Amino acid sequence: VTGPERRWSWVEIDLSAIRHNVQIAKRRLSPGCRLMAVVKANAYGHGAVQVARTALSAGAVQLAVATVNEGIQLRRAGIDAPILVLSEPPASSIPLLLHHDLMPSVYTTEFAIAYGELADRAGVRAPYHLAVNTGMNRIGVRFDEVLEFIHSISFHRALEQVGTFTHFATADCAETLDFNMQLRRFKETVAAMRSAGIDPGLVHCANSAAILRYPETHMDMARLGISMYGFHPCPETRGYFDLRPAMSVHARITAVNTPPMSEGVSYGMNYRSTGSVKICAIPVGYADGYPRALSSRTSVIYAGHLCRQVGNICMDQCMFEVDLRSHGTHRRLDPHVGDEVLLVGSQNGAAVSIEDLCDVVGTIPHELCCALSLRMPKVYL
Ligand code: PLP
Repeated sequence: VTGPERRWSWVEIDLSAIRHNVQIAKRRLSPGCRLMAVVKANAYGHGAVQVARTALSAGAVQLAVATVNEGIQLRRAGIDAPILVLSEPPASSIPLLLHHDLMPSVYTTEFAIAYGELADRAGVRAPYHLAVNTGMNRIGVRFDEVLEFIHSISFHRALEQVGTFTHFATADCAETLDFNMQLRRFKETVAAMRSAGIDPGLVHCANSAAILRYPETHMDMARLGISMYGFHPCPETRGYFDLRPAMSVHARITAVNTPPMSEGVSYGMNYRSTGSVKICAIPVGYADGYPRALSSRTSVIYAGHLCRQVGNICMDQCMFEVDLRSHGTHRRLDPHVGDEVLLVGSQNGAAVSIEDLCDVVGTIPHELCCALSLRMPKVYL
């Protein structure tokens, strides 16, 4: 049993939202540009297998992962779509790549040669996507060394360049100078390959921000990550695309206390009761990806009302306050053990989004989504 039967906190993933977001991106793409669904890091915490299946059935044609193990997980689940590993794995994993039909990104001659040799010996092809460093300076062959690189590995018959890609560092930024520089370098690199008689295979560079903002980046393929999960990559896309977050976070009340006035709550007791509140405990803490930095700076939704989270968030639990006075105009809130609480989601017009939490702690939805799914069971809708 992995569901909420074991613990009174869980994450819900609405797969119809994933489907909807994939379709939004597909509609936005220029004709002929295909979609690669980025499901690395357990689909940004949403569950790789379920998201991959949903994205493929909604029109994505390829998948991208970060590690060989992530690719194997998808293969073991019976997914047979092409899978790209977005960086170059250790050479020791090459037998696994070949066995599970996973395409690596390539950018060092050492890896390329080892990959080509092993495939050759096994009598199979060694397909790969060439990663080009156009200015992000993370991975990839530097754009002006690409031809030399390809020539240096071209004696390997098994190697087959089936794709060429780069990644933008600033497609989500207001400032476009660096983005334009990367795009120009990438286009020039691909053109140089073509004039040298080298087939670049599938050419791709767009991430979510570029898919939504820059149609000129829609080449043979585009890689959709964060917006598939329902998040805007930047403020500029808000209002233009109806993205729907797929993740909500739920818990049930495990204890209700009525501390007398001025008594403290949680470690450090930096919150003191006013005497007219009930303090409810829920089993979600920073080990569940609910950052401690949110302590007393966020709200949860109980019975359709926003209630202040109070006291320091503990490792496995936290507390919120039901103010017995301020909800009096509706109906008296009377929290009980077992009642459901929303930590992320919306109910009756009250809403707490992942982005709200990100604003408080100064991070991005990618990080919070990954963290929130580490320990809490997931329920699929
Ligand atoms: N492509 C690469 C190489 C990536 O590393 C990522 C994610 O970081 C993506 C695509 C997807 O980006 P996003 O989540 O911004 O759509």
